[in-house]
Amino acid sequence: MGIEDQRDCGGRREAPGRRAKYLFVTGGVMSGIGKGVVTSSLGKILQARGFSVTVMKIDPYLNVDAGTMNPLVHGEVFVTEDGGEVDMDIGTYERFLDLDLTREHNITTGQIYLSVIEKERRGDLLGKCVQIIPHVTDEIKSRIRGIAAKYPVDVVLVEIGGTVGDIEGLPFLEAARQMRLEEGPGNVINVHVTLVPVLEVVGEQKTKPTQHSVQELRRIGIQPDAIITRSKKPLSESSRKKIALFCNVEERAVFSSPDVESIYQIPLVLDEQGAGDYLVERFGLSGGSPPDWSHWRGLVRRFIEPRHSIRIAMCGKYTELADSYVSVNEALKHSGAACDSRVQIDWISTEAFEANERELELLRDYDGILIPGGFGARGAEGKIRAISFARSNDIPFLGICYGFQLSVVEFARSIGFEGANSTEIDPSTEHPVIDLMPEQKAIDRMGSTMRLGAHRIILREGTLAMRLYGSKVVTERHRHRYEVNPKYLDALERGGLVFSGVSEDGLRMEIAELPGMSFYMATQFHAEFKSRPNKPSPPYLGFVRACLERRLSRSRR
Ligand code: GLN
Repeated sequence: MGIEDQRDCGGRREAPGRRAKYLFVTGGVMSGIGKGVVTSSLGKILQARGFSVTVMKIDPYLNVDAGTMNPLVHGEVFVTEDGGEVDMDIGTYERFLDLDLTREHNITTGQIYLSVIEKERRGDLLGKCVQIIPHVTDEIKSRIRGIAAKYPVDVVLVEIGGTVGDIEGLPFLEAARQMRLEEGPGNVINVHVTLVPVLEVVGEQKTKPTQHSVQELRRIGIQPDAIITRSKKPLSESSRKKIALFCNVEERAVFSSPDVESIYQIPLVLDEQGAGDYLVERFGLSGGSPPDWSHWRGLVRRFIEPRHSIRIAMCGKYTELADSYVSVNEALKHSGAACDSRVQIDWISTEAFEANERELELLRDYDGILIPGGFGARGAEGKIRAISFARSNDIPFLGICYGFQLSVVEFARSIGFEGANSTEIDPSTEHPVIDLMPEQKAIDRMGSTMRLGAHRIILREGTLAMRLYGSKVVTERHRHRYEVNPKYLDALERGGLVFSGVSEDGLRMEIAELPGMSFYMATQFHAEFKSRPNKPSPPYLGFVRACLERRLSRSRR
């Protein structure tokens, strides 16, 4: 079976011809309030009742995909099985709902306009004046319905990014409005997620911003069926009543999503207030079962009440934000939960290590050192020093993508290849142990041109990788241009580095490990993208387990 066939995008293929229902999620007041988590939670609530779901994300910016955007501003670039460089919310959906989504699940304004303009140039719209309504809105609707047709499910959830009132979002809201008319009100639900702030001086929850954003939504022609409020504390009864009255929503359809310790609690919090029953009733969904939360509850407990705690140093350049590595953070937490341990992640800037080697000593107090993916020369030398420190002091080490490449550089230097480097950092290095992949050399475009998405990896018997994965062939996701230079392979292996995972054609090194260490593993791929709360990624799990062992053995001393 090919990767294509194995994909589970939420589709239940045995029920063709069933008509999907659509749940649109919009946001009010401001962005960044956790709409992706709320959307995922609504999907989880439906799944818990036996309904199948899939989720789409609409990003109203003009980029064709997230691949060319700065993760510092926009958050992590998530990579799908099929090599899509997509919005990080797709990662949240995959983790909550245990689905593998595709690049088609993330629509941007750039994609919509590109295809409408291409159609116009081809002459497909000959004689027509090409307009936002109907041409752009038709394109949007056809992509949403396209997902419903390709991956038949009970409910397609569609999160519209940004905030109601943004100019960019208008065509998408208009398309959502039209879909309700065309599909019938029982087949489309609009959920609006807003922020309810508290005015410090009086300590009172303020509903006015919510009222205004719903007014704006109604002006566009969308009356929300339900409102989910984000707030610090649970929504007060009087606030709930006020929102219901002013926003023209039933009181029982105003749900509160207060701050909680773990995002994985939110499906439970919303369902306790009746969100699931309300959605099922409004959609007229039949054939579901009473929700079974027993497994999820057990999982959440491990996230919020662990017995142990470990500290991990995540090393990068100072401009990289912890937020641009959401999947890495989540993968660590999933592994932590599996080991009954909280994972505290400290962000350490490696530029300090370049200025002063003694700074490295602070790493000694950590239970593990992780070098995540990255690009460019800045901070790279410091990352190499951190890897060297981990190796010489036998501190559990995990390197991801750039972290893998730099660990190979560090190892090469340690066995006598003085000045070894990646050509990304030093194009004229004497020992280019990491070099551009041959097919990358001719590429002069930036969008979607790296080696991307899922590729098969063959593991070597008797290695740590094989023990962790428990299988000879695995599939992991990639996003890189550089690779281990095959010219140095023999020397590196003779020096003791074990390449325990290679690409199917045997040409590409995928995993490096050092036997005899408490834990030393680096991967060319990004295993974090496939980690799920109840199925932690094997390299991360191995790393976290080793960190916990170090912590426990040190506390016994
Ligand atoms: N910069 C490196 C490359 O392009 C690593 C990329 C990454 O860490 N995602 O190969």
